[in-house]
Amino acid sequence: MTASGPVAIRASDALRKKLAKLGLQTEADLLVHLPLRYEDETRVTPLSYAFTGEPVQVEVVVLSNEVQFRPRRQMVVRAADDSGELTLRFFSFYPSQQAALAVGSRVRAFGEVRGGFFGLEMVHPRFHKVEEDTPLPTEMTPIYPSTAGLANSALHKLIARALDDGDLADSLPDEIRQRLKLPGFARSLRFLHRPPPGTELDTLHARNHPAWRRVKFDEVLAQQLSLRRAYLARREQGAPVLVAQDDLGARLLDRLPFGLTGAQLRAMAEIAGDLAQPYPMQRLLQGDVGAGKTIVAALAACQAISAGWQAAFMAPTEILAEQHYLKLRDWLEPLGVRVAWLSGSLKSKAKREQLAATAADAQLVVGTHALIQDGVDFARLGLAIVDEQHRFGVAQRLALRKKGSNPHQLMMSATPIPRTLAMSYYADLDVTVLDELPPGRTPIKTRLVADNRRQDVVGFVQKHVEEGRQAYWVCPLIEESEALQLQTAQDTYEQLSVDLPGLTVGLVHGRLKADEKQAVMGAFAAGEIDVLVATTVIEVGVDVPNASLMVIEHAERFGLSQLHQLRGRVGRGQYESSCVLIYAGPLGEIARQRLKIIFEHTDGFEIARQDLQIRGPGEFVGARQSGVPLLRYADLELDADLVDMAREIAEEMLRDHPAAAEKHLQRWLGSREELLKS
Ligand code: ADP
Ligand code: MG
Repeated sequence: MTASGPVAIRASDALRKKLAKLGLQTEADLLVHLPLRYEDETRVTPLSYAFTGEPVQVEVVVLSNEVQFRPRRQMVVRAADDSGELTLRFFSFYPSQQAALAVGSRVRAFGEVRGGFFGLEMVHPRFHKVEEDTPLPTEMTPIYPSTAGLANSALHKLIARALDDGDLADSLPDEIRQRLKLPGFARSLRFLHRPPPGTELDTLHARNHPAWRRVKFDEVLAQQLSLRRAYLARREQGAPVLVAQDDLGARLLDRLPFGLTGAQLRAMAEIAGDLAQPYPMQRLLQGDVGAGKTIVAALAACQAISAGWQAAFMAPTEILAEQHYLKLRDWLEPLGVRVAWLSGSLKSKAKREQLAATAADAQLVVGTHALIQDGVDFARLGLAIVDEQHRFGVAQRLALRKKGSNPHQLMMSATPIPRTLAMSYYADLDVTVLDELPPGRTPIKTRLVADNRRQDVVGFVQKHVEEGRQAYWVCPLIEESEALQLQTAQDTYEQLSVDLPGLTVGLVHGRLKADEKQAVMGAFAAGEIDVLVATTVIEVGVDVPNASLMVIEHAERFGLSQLHQLRGRVGRGQYESSCVLIYAGPLGEIARQRLKIIFEHTDGFEIARQDLQIRGPGEFVGARQSGVPLLRYADLELDADLVDMAREIAEEMLRDHPAAAEKHLQRWLGSREELLKS
């Protein structure tokens, strides 16, 4: 095989269009388009032995064929073998299929037999015409993922051709392949596309067959190679070297009423090291809710500022950004740092002032998405911090980086990403984990309460406030209608105001104007509001240590990470905290599982791991992967060992076998590779 670029699939334009829908553009794509499952067409079952509910192949001669229009348009074919009769029913069909099923035709049909009103029938079987002496296949028939109007047999033919004259050369160097004890590429693909005669269905369907393992490894390896290459490429770019020129960071630490945890110190040291490098940092700081990420970010900002550069701090919601702004200003202004604030809700005069500061002498700029709008110019952006990074898309994080020339980037997330997922989808980032909570936190008690005992919960809130604490009361998520959600919050607010005489009840929701929101949050933080009724706007980041009770209504409607985030709003001070989950039955299976998990676990990583099991990885990676099929064959939970292996091999291949690495990437990712990066 000569080294050449990807070869487009040789087929008619119409066929190529259908193939493109499956992501199949090149001959190489065909090779790795693997069967979903297999069907056994090596035997013919006499109709008298066909049991309903079982997929079988029958060989029958057509007795009659008519198109009926009632109860709906359909082609009804009566057919028989020596032992019985059968109806074949098609609700959509092509003229060519009608012709093939003309009276007297002999066909083999494969499908599940059902006991219909008029005896045995098959609905939409796969079938093909045969002669009396047409030999039976000796191999299992692979069934490929397909799309409307593309017959399995057509795909099968194209793939068989690719197998015969495509490039099957192994992209794994022999020595590595043997070390990993993996079978060869060509051998594995031939086995999966053309299982040898006599191979059992069970063997083929078990995804731990060595041939499947090889394919899954290759797929994960391609992903690791791609991410690793992006990681290395970043090291070739220049970035501002941020070496502190004074003791700003130390002075901030002196002012804090607490000392850093070991985890915070380690994170700080890693980040400090990165910032002093001449290439851009891209670090993800992960830590459960309440782990204390903000101060770590503030110290990173101090280093940038002290080196003579600006830092930007972007948060996904107005409430959270505002809270960060107030806190950072509190911490840093007394030390002489100039802090600017940008949000969509600023009045035009204030906005002009803040924009001017950002373009001139502001040292730290805190804000929402407003930071990445056109017309925002930074004088010297050296460090871009993104809080709750999973709430932003790739493009938004990139837009913030573009406000400087290759600034360092620190991303923070309280949605813990299970390890396998982090290693596969975030392999191009450096990851720091804050695996220790600040001391003195009392664990949060979680209770599940059925909604007919709502009144008891109200009493509990009352008692809680009498002890000097504050509470959140979160209203149900109503996905279908924001208006309804708002109405519910309003109703709850009014009801609780009546039920809790003598207490101050506040209300905050997404429709409030920014300054109204700020006023309410400010009053709550200052202890002027006892009970804050809220929609999920308080989901991320809000930090009021004296609030130690979280009530969530219709908890069964929330996702696990949302529940964990909401619960994380309490347990932030020295007081014993609780979270009351009010639910309304009957519970669906998933909701029941979720409530059980949140009830039994407080560790965000464990919750995320279980969440991954319930939901699959798609939800976690979110915007980062939009438009890119997730792994097609490998399963991150079941094949975690492959991810570990692939990670090491990717490094080794890029270092010692760059040509093989390139070939591997071409084969598995082709033109899709660009999409994997951020
Ligand atoms: P998150 O990681 O969820 O963003 P925050 O940065 O909001 O957490 O910190 C949660 C709370 O813990 C804040 O009130 C913060 O000031 C406090 N905190 C942070 N680090 C420590 C520490 N080492 N000791 C005590 N309290 C801390
Ligand atoms: Mg936070």
